Amino acid sequence: MNLHLKDKVVIVSGGAKGIGKAICIQLLEEQAIPVLLDKDEAAGKSFVKQFPRSHFISLDLTDPVACKKSIEKTEKKLGQINALVNNAGFNDGIGLAKGNPQKFVQSLNNSAGHYYFLAHYCLPFLKQSKGNIVNIASKVAITGQGNTSGYAAAKGAILSLTREWAVELLPFSIRVNAVLPAEVWTPLYESWIKSFPDPKEKKREIESKIPLENRMTSSEEIANMVVFLLSDRCSHVTGQWMSVDGGYVHLDRAI
Ligand code: NAP
Repeated sequence: MNLHLKDKVVIVSGGAKGIGKAICIQLLEEQAIPVLLDKDEAAGKSFVKQFPRSHFISLDLTDPVACKKSIEKTEKKLGQINALVNNAGFNDGIGLAKGNPQKFVQSLNNSAGHYYFLAHYCLPFLKQSKGNIVNIASKVAITGQGNTSGYAAAKGAILSLTREWAVELLPFSIRVNAVLPAEVWTPLYESWIKSFPDPKEKKREIESKIPLENRMTSSEEIANMVVFLLSDRCSHVTGQWMSVDGGYVHLDRAI
């Protein structure tokens, strides 16, 4: 199926590793032009070296001025912005007991603030291109996880913003959708699971509860959904929350 993404310029936050990297690779397969916004300079530069059609901008996404400059730089260099994938996030374990007001606000900023910053600064260009937005949320927004108030609140906000922006941007035919991963093996996931006394056992325990094939979702499976949503094959899909999780959130617990 031709997704008609050839030469489309797509901003991907957190594009240097994990799910974001898989999205960028998938975009390249569709002959689109991914622009990686990430603070991991080594990973970003190595990606561009491997895939010279892509672009990398090093920044801390929690800085709104840096977000603004990165979008302006992209538009100046490439002449258009066709889509935004808000993907960067960090499950930082700022809980109700194990946390404080400052850390909670910081956590919201780490995982949700820049979704707004990038969408805000991309908007004039998305209006010109009739582009669209995909927000990466998390099953944590639906299920909770415990001991991660900041991250859970950020992901809940991202689901709400998906609906809110889908409504606000109807007059411009800009579609906005969200993808909810649950358990995906990435560098972030690996460092989280290492926080358990027996990471291998914890991984086995988690996988045993994933209904479809008792395995984690791959980054590529998340990327497939994202790229499909970005394409005009989804031209009448907006405001949707798509769970790509092997049935983890929605299927019967008794199975
Ligand atoms: P990852 O492996 O950590 O990759 C994310 C990339 O984003 C990293 O290169 C990271 O850089 C970068 N990044 C994070 N915060 C940044 C900031 N403030 N400024 C610039 N760059 C930043 O993460 P992932 O597991 O692929 O997760 C991607 C998204 O999926 C996140 O929104 C996450 O919440 C969501 N998600 C993941 C899972 C899962 O199972 N993996 C489940 C549900 C939802 P550093 O490494 O230098 O921090």
